[in-house]
Amino acid sequence: MSIARFWRETPRRYNLGGSKCSVCGTVYFPPRTVCPECTSHRQSIGKMTPFHLSGDGEVVSFTVVHEAAEGFEMQVPYVVALVRTVEGPILTGQIVDIEPKDVAIGLRVRATFRKLREEGKAGVIHYGYKFAPSEDEGRPSAPRGPAVPAPTAEPTKTPGTPA
Ligand SMILES: [Zn+2]
Repeated sequence: MSIARFWRETPRRYNLGGSKCSVCGTVYFPPRTVCPECTSHRQSIGKMTPFHLSGDGEVVSFTVVHEAAEGFEMQVPYVVALVRTVEGPILTGQIVDIEPKDVAIGLRVRATFRKLREEGKAGVIHYGYKFAPSEDEGRPSAPRGPAVPAPTAEPTKTPGTPA
């Protein structure tokens, strides 16, 4: 399957759209039509509502991959982690913008949408999102992509400019 076709058929994975049970409040990703958490599945029928995950979470488990799947030779070593989102669902994704040796359990990350290089035969990376360290982790921002101004950023001081 081509990447283009993959995207067309799995848009929900791209926008982190899940579902939430309005009976017990459990969030699911990918979305479910009934809630297995409720004592009777019938309780949740028709009460599952669309819910978009924030993409924020923390690493609960990870693996450093040294042997690339076909199509990912340029990326080794890379880290694939299980990320528990703040909403509850645990997602699998690649951790980017950080050295593999710096990845640790508990690292706060945020989903970032990245174009996949190619579809690997082994299917190591299934989703269009990857995870990068959250900005509140205190790490320098990634060199790539547009800079996101921090809410507490101080005005830039320019030498020679009258105060
Ligand atoms: Zn429920």
